[in-house]
Amino acid sequence: MTTSEQLFEKAKTLIPGGVNSPVRAFRAVGGSPLFIKSAKGPFLYDEDGRQYIELINSWGPMILGHAFEPVEKAVRDAIQHSFSFGAPTRKEVEMAELITWMVPSVDKVRMVNSGTEATMSAIRVARGFTGRDKLIKFEGCYHGHGDSFLIAAGSGAVTMGVPDSPGVTKATAADTLTAPFNDLAAVELLFENNHNQVAAVILEPVVGNMGCVLPEPGFLEGIRALCDKHGAILIFDEVMTGFRLAKGGAQERFGILPDLTTMGKIIGGGMPVGAYGGRADIMNQVSPAGPVYQAGTLSGNPIAMSAGLAMLRYLNDHSDVYMQLEAIGNKLVAGFSATFEKFGMTYTINHIGSMYTLFMTDQPVTNFSEAKSCDLRSFGRYFHAMLDRGVYLAPSQFESLFLSTALTDTLVEQVIQANEESLLEVM
Ligand code: PLP
Repeated sequence: MTTSEQLFEKAKTLIPGGVNSPVRAFRAVGGSPLFIKSAKGPFLYDEDGRQYIELINSWGPMILGHAFEPVEKAVRDAIQHSFSFGAPTRKEVEMAELITWMVPSVDKVRMVNSGTEATMSAIRVARGFTGRDKLIKFEGCYHGHGDSFLIAAGSGAVTMGVPDSPGVTKATAADTLTAPFNDLAAVELLFENNHNQVAAVILEPVVGNMGCVLPEPGFLEGIRALCDKHGAILIFDEVMTGFRLAKGGAQERFGILPDLTTMGKIIGGGMPVGAYGGRADIMNQVSPAGPVYQAGTLSGNPIAMSAGLAMLRYLNDHSDVYMQLEAIGNKLVAGFSATFEKFGMTYTINHIGSMYTLFMTDQPVTNFSEAKSCDLRSFGRYFHAMLDRGVYLAPSQFESLFLSTALTDTLVEQVIQANEESLLEVM
């Protein structure tokens, strides 16, 4: 038994399923999860001393690779001043200033501790602002584990076979309306059938949680127009795409401005941080400026703010990071495509910047039902073939991969080679 296997056996007696977040358990791909001891740059190291090339990067945050020096230094400096005050700090002001500068639609922002908190709070504000109860979300999008979102949810929820989680009340479920991603007509119908009742539409502008799925031309524009027409708040959940697809996230890349934006992952540089922000008139509803209550003992935590600030400052000052990420993503996908061509393989690869998913299907993947039609057994075999070759992927078909600037040309070539060998093994 490896050390990871031993730890997992023990963990299962102490922690539900042996993990603190479901997908980590490798249920969808079989086998036992690796227990990670450390990470540096593009590499993860497990408890058995093996090295892996990182293509998940903590599910997104480590966009500059692990233990990136300026972030590490900021944390070291910050811990000398104690760990939490539960009182306002200069760093929170600097953080808010930087976020409102970087993210085009955000006038005011509130820091929280996770993406889940950000999305739960954003819909509360949207409901408070509009006086309406209903929410439109898209099948296969994942917005954290708030009750309202565990309806037709992607990511770990669908991986575990529970897109509609038990424990969510019927009343909550009834307030969440769902439409297929990229289907404007379905959204229009929901608005018509729920006249003046829809508080908000929330979506991942580029989906990462059913695998990587891009908005078709006109889709984001159409959603924006429908929200305007029906007086609903448009929320872009940029927990994955924020500070990744561009400095200002997907909204900058696609030129569509939402009313509210939720953020997480990169914003904390690897620490537990989330944020929600947007139009000043909406954000002024949040307590104590307004009546919509939301609070947090550790919100704006000084260590987390220091890590996040160091990360965002670096990204803000180094536009070349985004060009580098585009180049890495393009090189990787070109290499995969060359393999497909060489061996007459017909996989589907969805890709934008530093996000991609290789789907085990020869059909296009533009929504949840198409993603779910992939051959999941082949994915499991592919995942393990890659792992055997030292490449660490997300252990589910319903996830995007996240590339970092730490991936050198040589490492990208190694991944392309591992991919070719793995697909030949799976075929
Ligand atoms: N929104 C999106 C788009 C996500 O991908 C996630 C998590 O992966 C969340 C919200 C929830 O964030 P957290 O896991 O930090 O609660």
